[in-house]
Amino acid sequence: MTSNPNRTCRHHSLAQGPVAQVQLCQDCGCVSMHLGATTVRMDPEALHSVWHTLGEAVAHLGRERMALGQPPVNVPRGDA
Ligand SMILES: [Zn+2]
Repeated sequence: MTSNPNRTCRHHSLAQGPVAQVQLCQDCGCVSMHLGATTVRMDPEALHSVWHTLGEAVAHLGRERMALGQPPVNVPRGDA
């Protein structure tokens, strides 16, 4: 992926929830993930990798909480 120093990225939203928003630049194809005041830019392959890692973490967290007798995480639902 090449960067796009001469133009401002033009983003459109791929998904938005109560905690995070993910946008795609229609010019350079980069993905921006917004978490509160923090924005992480990555390529689509990295987004896929992050998705897998987060999925593993959520699954492990659920199993660990269950093993400890804790209730499931109360997940806020977004519009995404
Ligand atoms: Zn861009």
